[in-house]
Amino acid sequence: MIELSFMEYCMVIVIGSFVLVGLFGWISRFAHFNDERRGRRSRFVCDLCLTTWEDRGKEKIAICPHCGRSCQRPR
Ligand SMILES: [Zn+2]
Repeated sequence: MIELSFMEYCMVIVIGSFVLVGLFGWISRFAHFNDERRGRRSRFVCDLCLTTWEDRGKEKIAICPHCGRSCQRPR
């Protein structure tokens, strides 16, 4: 067992919490970025009738549910 004074113990807790907050912030930013990108890729706007819809499939071309025009998946 490592012997720690009360001051050292407090420092470990403070530094540990800073590291944890930074880590969680980084993870949540990364997750948000991924989610945003996935959302943008599944959102379509029809060029012809301006209908907006979501398609979670993998195909590069989606058919507009309103007018039937085929639309390219955004990058
Ligand atoms: Zn359309």
